[in-house]
Amino acid sequence: MPNDPVPDLLVRATEVLEGEFGSLPDFDAASDTARNPEAMARVLDTVAHRLGNNYPYFHPLYAGQMLKPPHPVARAAYALAMVLNPNNHARDGGRASSEMEIEAVAHIAGMFGWTEFLGHLTSGGTQANLEALWVAGQLAPGRRIVGSEQAHYTHQRISSVLKLEYASIAADRRGRMDMEALESELRKGDVSTVVVTLGTTAIGAVDPLDQVVALRRRYGFRIHVDAAYGGYFRLISDALDSPARAAYAALDQADSIVVDPHKHGLQPYGCGSILFRDPAVGRFYKHDSPYTYFTSKELHLGEISLECSRAGATAVALWATQQLLPLTPGGEFAQGLACGRAAALELDRRLRLDPRFEPLTAGAPELDIVVWKLNAASPEQSSHLAHKVFLACATVDLHLALVQLPVAWFEPAGAGTAESAQEYVTCLRSVLMKPEHEAWLDRIWEKLIAACAKAEG
Ligand SMILES: *Cc1c(COP(=O)(O)O)cnc(C)c1O
Repeated sequence: MPNDPVPDLLVRATEVLEGEFGSLPDFDAASDTARNPEAMARVLDTVAHRLGNNYPYFHPLYAGQMLKPPHPVARAAYALAMVLNPNNHARDGGRASSEMEIEAVAHIAGMFGWTEFLGHLTSGGTQANLEALWVAGQLAPGRRIVGSEQAHYTHQRISSVLKLEYASIAADRRGRMDMEALESELRKGDVSTVVVTLGTTAIGAVDPLDQVVALRRRYGFRIHVDAAYGGYFRLISDALDSPARAAYAALDQADSIVVDPHKHGLQPYGCGSILFRDPAVGRFYKHDSPYTYFTSKELHLGEISLECSRAGATAVALWATQQLLPLTPGGEFAQGLACGRAAALELDRRLRLDPRFEPLTAGAPELDIVVWKLNAASPEQSSHLAHKVFLACATVDLHLALVQLPVAWFEPAGAGTAESAQEYVTCLRSVLMKPEHEAWLDRIWEKLIAACAKAEG
C-alpha cells in the first residue's frame, strides 16, 4: 500500500472542526462502547482481517473491473464529515454540505459548458439514470425509450419500473449504436428518448452523439447521455480519436447527462450525478411532505431529487477533491485520465503483435478499456482458455476481468456468419483507469505472459 496520509490529515482537520463548535459545553457519550477504544480496536482488527478477503482494488496490479480508489483527500473529507453526518435532503440536515453539493455539481456541469441547468448528486448512476428516464416519461407518457444493446443493462430495468416501453438498438463491431438501426426505430414515430452511451460499460465504446443530435433535428426526441463511466473524458476529448472526439464535442446538446464521480471521479461509492439542460423540469419533483423541515427560503436539494435522505459526506468529499484537482483540461486530474488511456493503447498495441491474442478487429480502444479474445480453434475453446488465463493471472497477483462479447467483433469485416452475429465468446477485459497503470504496464504485461504460459502448460 502507498504511505497513507489520511490518518494524519484527519487528526488535524478534526481539531479544526472541533474548534468550529468550541463554544458548546463538553459532554460524555452515554454509550459504554463508544467510550471503550480497546473494545472498538479489537473489532476493527477483525474487520481489517475480513476486508483482506478482497481483490487489492487500490493496487495498479488490480486492472480488472471499473474500480478506482478514492483520492486520499476524498477519503479524509468523507471521514471528517462523519463527525456531523449531514443529510443533504434539506438545508436543516446539511447546510454547508448542501452548498458544497451545489458547487460541486456546477463544476461537473461546467465540464460540458453548461452554466444554466438543474442537477444534483445521487447514490449512483442507476438512480441518476432513473431520474433522467422518469423526467422523460413525465414529458412524453406512453412513448418509447431506446438505447443500444451495449447500453447499461439497468436502462431496460429502469424503464420497466417506470412502465415505459424500452427497445434495444443494434450495436456495430465497435460496440457503438448503429445509426441505421436507430433511424428505422425513429421512423416508427413513437420514440420519446434516445439513451446515448459515452463510454459503454463493457468496452468503453462511444456512441456517435453528434449523429444522434443530427437525427433529432429530423425526428424530434430527447437525448439522454449516459456518461456514468465516460463523462470525465470530456476533459481530454480533443486527444481522442476522431469519432469519439466529435461525440464528446456534442455533449452540450444533450437534454440530460449522467456522470458517476464514483467511477472515474476518485470518489467513494455512493456518488452519481444527474444534470438536466432545462431547469424547468424541476417542476416534476414538487412535493409537499409535511415532515420536511423547510426552515429556509433557499433551494433544498430534496425538492429537486427523487431520493429523500442523501449523504452530505458525499458532497463534501467531491467538493474537496475538486478543490485539489480542478476539472480543467491539462490539469492533474485530466492527465490521470490520459495516463490510463495511454496504458490501454499500449496494451492493445502489444496484444496485436502477439499471435496468442486477438483484440477487437475494428480498432483500438476508444477510452481506457481493453478487451481481447484468446486465439483458439473455436469460440468454446477460446472462452475456456480465457477462464484459465484469468485464474492464472490471479495466482501471479494480476487481476483482470472477463466479459462476453459477440464473436463477430473478432472477425474480419463482412466475414461474420449469421450464427457468429448471435454467438458470444468470453474475453479478457482490463479497465486501465488508474493513473499508475501507465507506469505499471510492463509489469502487467510480464504477468499476463507468465499467466498464459501457466494456463497453456
Ligand atoms: C456503471 C454504469 C452505470 C450504473 O451506475 P451505478 O453507479 O453502478 O449505479 C450506468 N451506466 C453506465 C454506462 C455505467 O458504466
